[in-house]
Amino acid sequence: MERYADIVLPLAQPAYTYAVADGLDVEEGQAVAVQFGARRIYTGIVWRIHGRRPDFPRIKTVSRVLYDRPLLDARQRALWEWMADYYLCTLGEVMRFALPQTIKPSGNSEQEFADREYRPRTELYAALDASLHDEERFHDLMERLSRRAPRQYAALLAIASAEGGDRISTGEVPRRLLEADAATLAALQKKGLVTLTRRERSVERGCVRFQLPTLTPAQQSCLDTIRGHFDAGRRTVLLHGITGSGKTELYIHLIAEALVRGGDVLLLVPEIAITAQLIARLERIFGSRVTAYHSKLTLARRTESYLRLTRSDGGELVVGARSALFLPLRHLQLIVVDEEHDTGYKQTDAQPRYNARDVAVVMARLREARTVLGSATPSLESYANALGGKYGLATLDERYGDARPPLVLVSDTLRAVKRNERKTHFNRLLLDKLADVLARGEQAMLFQNRRGFAPYVECRACGWTARCPRCNVTLTYHKRDHRLQCHYCGHVETVPVRCPACRAGEVTPAGFGTEKVEEELARLFPAARIERLDRDTATSERAYRAIIDRFESGQSDLLVGTQMITKGFDFARVSLVGILNADNLLFAPDFRAAERAFQLMTQVAGRAGRRDAAGEVVIQTTEPEHPVIRQVAAGDYEAMARTQLAERRAFAYPPYARLIRLTLRQRDRDLLYRASAALAVALRGRFGRRAMGPVAPPVDRIREEYITEFLLKIESGASASRAREVLREVLRQTLGAKEFQTVTLSCDVDPQ
Ligand code: ADP
Ligand code: ZN
Ligand code: ZN
Repeated sequence: MERYADIVLPLAQPAYTYAVADGLDVEEGQAVAVQFGARRIYTGIVWRIHGRRPDFPRIKTVSRVLYDRPLLDARQRALWEWMADYYLCTLGEVMRFALPQTIKPSGNSEQEFADREYRPRTELYAALDASLHDEERFHDLMERLSRRAPRQYAALLAIASAEGGDRISTGEVPRRLLEADAATLAALQKKGLVTLTRRERSVERGCVRFQLPTLTPAQQSCLDTIRGHFDAGRRTVLLHGITGSGKTELYIHLIAEALVRGGDVLLLVPEIAITAQLIARLERIFGSRVTAYHSKLTLARRTESYLRLTRSDGGELVVGARSALFLPLRHLQLIVVDEEHDTGYKQTDAQPRYNARDVAVVMARLREARTVLGSATPSLESYANALGGKYGLATLDERYGDARPPLVLVSDTLRAVKRNERKTHFNRLLLDKLADVLARGEQAMLFQNRRGFAPYVECRACGWTARCPRCNVTLTYHKRDHRLQCHYCGHVETVPVRCPACRAGEVTPAGFGTEKVEEELARLFPAARIERLDRDTATSERAYRAIIDRFESGQSDLLVGTQMITKGFDFARVSLVGILNADNLLFAPDFRAAERAFQLMTQVAGRAGRRDAAGEVVIQTTEPEHPVIRQVAAGDYEAMARTQLAERRAFAYPPYARLIRLTLRQRDRDLLYRASAALAVALRGRFGRRAMGPVAPPVDRIREEYITEFLLKIESGASASRAREVLREVLRQTLGAKEFQTVTLSCDVDPQ
């Protein structure tokens, strides 16, 4: 019987059907090399093998299989299918993103493809020749060599003592454990004293005894609650535990249980930068079971891990960023999503625009595994699921040890101005507290959610502001290099001396960012050692670590930064946290502003006073009575959640409705507007008032492209899958028109 295969290629295209060469040994989920287009060779994934001949005349043939086992099992394929359907993209787009680049080479010729194919790292292994297993002969030889050939002597000694006992080692020893150069080993082989073999590097899985932390009674009872939910058949549990309560210790217990049963565990973290600390902590307990996986690792490393896991028989602990979801963990029993509220889980720049937390929950269902979502400030989506009984809820509301929650002080900026108690961007209260902290030799962190020196520069005379020529946004002033930078496209220009508009006024910075805060602090506290952590200073993983390490080891006193300083650090000597301007968090133009403001302020506040001393937090705002400020001060997550959920319900926003955002881009504004008008009519026809737009987003031109947006609201009760189906059809009919072919469309399901 003739066989055909539907093959997914890493393109924004549907699967493509190929004939399977006679006698080719291939199964679904395997990677194959296939030709697509005139010459190009791609790696594809065999999605389905069947006997239906497609009705196009020239069918290409697949004749070469890559790797000796499938890259994806049936449940991984089911997950990709779910993602493509839910996030409105193709399987090819999921493939493009989900598999590391080097595992799926492509090329313009067979030769180029072959050159790019992944070759496993190999290693040289050395073993003593059997004739030397005899002690006497070995010692005779060594005596001779010790004078005449000291290098060979040293190499043999290293091989013979590799097992560390008092016997001569007889096994193979990897070269990296020997301090022997290739020439020496070759010489020994020539003499028939050692045998050398080169083969794929293997990972030693030492046997480990897990040393688990002893839990406090509160932690123990929380762990029992989580287990109880699982035993009662719930797949997902939300762990709401305040900062410093020991959520990680609970994860460790749950992880150990799964590993002992031979299961795999996936621990997701939102930010690669914080994985190093966590991995070190986990390696101390789980040793070589831990595999790190994220985009900062080399492609070869990622490919090696991926392929190794396709052969694993369980007991793996993978710690990684969102892309780790796509690893072939065939024995998955547990997924932990740490800081589940974090927006870092959402991919925003390319399809699939997925949220790793949501995909984790779906994947756990497909694999019959369990999920723990942990956070000090859960997303309202997860919290609503917990309140509604869909997820189990476990709470941990005391800090570990003697650590007490921080004391939050709200400082009224308007009153400070009136009383002349404000210097530049600091109210007197914060300045006094900073002075105390420095006098006591402690540390403080200062949070400002904008980087750079000033959000914009402005002409004193006419009010002109510098804007990006390619994006509709003001340029940010960076003082260090005295330049203006676009935070959307990276465009850089120098600051004009005279206003280019009126040619009279002086151009000066307005507003403030982290760089300016740093400079003002240096003026106010000349003796303090100040550092700044934001995207301008943390230009690499290394630079980032260096700043953190200096602060951790007490080489700096004050740390100024953006969101970056809020992420899960555990600094022992921080006794004060200052939030310089809460207003721009509270009044962001976004239905999630209040939730975000609460999360951000609570997370920053959580950095104060860990371990033994209670810390203090000063929040500067012009709205000291704002409910969210009060909820942060009281540490009252439930109150925030209740108020916000009531509002979301009243206005039909998530979690009580689903949103899909459609973005259209095109350099030609008229063409864009015509396409938008056509889409508006079609959407309105099918979705009525639930389709909103087109609107120009706050930044409506980026990299010379104009932008319009639509928002589709699918209220709960309506079928989301039916809505996606209708939407696909509308998009195909309107934007599929020839006239609009050059208009770029991107879909974002559950936008952040
Ligand atoms: P969270 O993740 O909830 O913010 P962590 O798990 O990081 O909290 O715990 C905060 C600190 O308290 C860490 O330094 C951790 O080692 C310590 N800690 C928490 N629980 C225990 C425990 N049961 N035994 C020992 N140390 C603990
Ligand atoms: Zn001017
Ligand atoms: Zn720009």
